[in-house]
Amino acid sequence: MTGNSDPLLGSKSFWQHDYGHYSPNPALKENLKVDVAIIGAGYTGLNTAWQFKRDNPNARVVVLEAAVVGFGASGRNAGFSTRMFGLEPEMVLLRWGKQKMIEAHLYLEKAVTHTRSLIEENGLDCDYRHNGLVRMSYSEQQANRLKKSYQLFQELGLDGDMRWREKSQVHQDFHSERFNSGIYESGTGYLNPCKQVRALKGLAESAGVTIYETTPVTNIERTASAIGLTTPQGKVTADKLVVATNAYSRQVPDTRALKTRQFPLWTYQIVTEPLSDRQWQSIGWKDRQSFGDNRQMLHYFRPTVDGRILMGGGDAIVYRTPPMDEVPSPMSWQHCEAHLKWIYPQLKDVRIAYRWGGPVSVNVDMVPEISFVGDERIIYSGGCFGHGVALTHLNGRTIADLLNGEKTELTDFWIVNRKSIPMAGDTLFFLGGRAARQALKAWDWWEERGLRER
Ligand SMILES: Cc1cc2nc3c(=O)[nH]c(=O)nc-3n(C[C@H](O)[C@H](O)[C@H](O)COP(=O)(O)OP(=O)(O)OC[C@H]3O[C@@H](n4cnc5c(N)ncnc54)[C@H](O)[C@@H]3O)c2cc1C
Repeated sequence: MTGNSDPLLGSKSFWQHDYGHYSPNPALKENLKVDVAIIGAGYTGLNTAWQFKRDNPNARVVVLEAAVVGFGASGRNAGFSTRMFGLEPEMVLLRWGKQKMIEAHLYLEKAVTHTRSLIEENGLDCDYRHNGLVRMSYSEQQANRLKKSYQLFQELGLDGDMRWREKSQVHQDFHSERFNSGIYESGTGYLNPCKQVRALKGLAESAGVTIYETTPVTNIERTASAIGLTTPQGKVTADKLVVATNAYSRQVPDTRALKTRQFPLWTYQIVTEPLSDRQWQSIGWKDRQSFGDNRQMLHYFRPTVDGRILMGGGDAIVYRTPPMDEVPSPMSWQHCEAHLKWIYPQLKDVRIAYRWGGPVSVNVDMVPEISFVGDERIIYSGGCFGHGVALTHLNGRTIADLLNGEKTELTDFWIVNRKSIPMAGDTLFFLGGRAARQALKAWDWWEERGLRER
C-alpha cells in the first residue's frame, strides 16, 4: 500500500497511518496580535514554541500549520535520533575544517541527549529506544572508506561510544553475507516520528501555546512596527516570526530571501509487515540497533516496536517544480525492496506493507542553518538534510534563545547566522542536482562493482 491521499492529511506515511485517528485543531478564524508567530508545526516549530513559552509564560505564542501537525518531514522520517551532520564527515572536514567539525559533533551529541531527556522527563509517548546505530559497509572500498572515517573520529577524539567491528563480527550479529566491517555507536536512538511530533503538540499546548491547523500562511508583510501574516480566514500581527517550514520554505510567501536558501530533495521509504520470531532469528540483529550503509546514496534500516523493518534511501529525487504533496516513486520503492532482499534473502517472501516519501531540505553548502532574515525579527531554520530529528529538537532551544535576544553557548554555534551560499536559478539547480545524483550513483556503482553478482 502507498500512502493514501486523505484531503486533509495529504499522502500519509506509515507512521501517520499507524497513528490512527487524529483530530486536528480548528483553523484560525479571527485576527490576533501576538508576541511570536511560528509558521510550521514540525519538530522545529513546536520545540521553539514550547521552549519560548516556558521562558516567557505571559507571552502570546501561536503556531500556524498549513496542513496538520506532522504533515511534513517530522511525520514521515525514519526516526533516527543521530549525531549525523551534513553529508559525510570527510566532506564536512574538507569544507569547514577540523574545529567546526568538532563543534558540530558536540552540538549533535547534545541534541541527542536533549531529545532523550525531553522525551523521558515529559513522558512523551513515542516508542523511543536508545539502542545505538551501526554504520555498515558492503565492499572492500567502502570498508576502507569507513575505516578512514573511524580513524578521523578517533583522531578528533569523537569516538567515545564508537567501536570498530570486523566483517566476521558483523556477520555474526546481522546474519548477512553482504556486510563488510562497521562502526558500532551506542549513544544514539530512534523513535516513532509521528507520535513524537504530536506529543510535542500536546506539550506546547499544555504550556499555553495556541496551534492552528489547516491554516496556510499566504502572505507575510513586514513593517517597521510589526509583521503581518495572512491566512485564508484570519490574520496575525506579530512582533517576531519564526519560519519553521524546512523543505517547504520555497513556498512560503514573501520570503524571497528564502527561495534561494534551500531546495527539497525527495527520499522514499518502505516498511515490511511484522516479521515472525523465526524470521527475526534468521537475520540476527538481536540488539535491534538502527543501521545505515556508507554508500553515497545511503540506505537506512530500523526495526519498529511491532517487529517490522523500515528502510529507505538508495536514491534521492529533485523535482523541477517542488511538490508540496508526495509524488509516488515506484522505482525508488522497488529499489528499496530489492536491496532489503539482497541483504536478507531469508526475507524474500516478506510483504511490503507500506510505501511513502518525504522531502528533506538541502542547500549548496550541505550543512543546516538558523538565520535572521532581513532583520532580527524573522528567524529561519532549514537545510537539515536527512539528519534533522535530534538537531531540530535542540534548534528549538537555540531559536528560543535568539527570540529572547540572548547570547548563549547554543547561539554561538557556527550554523547560527552563518553566511549561506545562495542557489543558482531553479533550472541550474535542477540540472546540477540531477548531475550530482548521477555522479553519486556512479560512485556507488564503482565501489560495489562485482558485488551484485555474488
Ligand atoms: C523520508 C525522510 C526520512 C528522514 N529520516 C530522518 C532520520 O531518520 N533521522 C533524522 O535525523 N532526520 C531524518 N529526516 C529529516 C527530518 O525528518 C527533518 O529534518 C525534520 O523533521 C524537519 O523538521 P521541521 O520541523 O524543520 O520541518 P517539517 O517537519 O517538514 O515541518 C514543516 C511544516 O511547515 C508546514 N508549512 C509549510 N508551508 C507552510 C505555510 N505557508 N503555512 C503554514 N505552514 C506551512 C508544513 O505543512 C510542515 O508541516 C528525514 C526526512 C525525510 C523526508
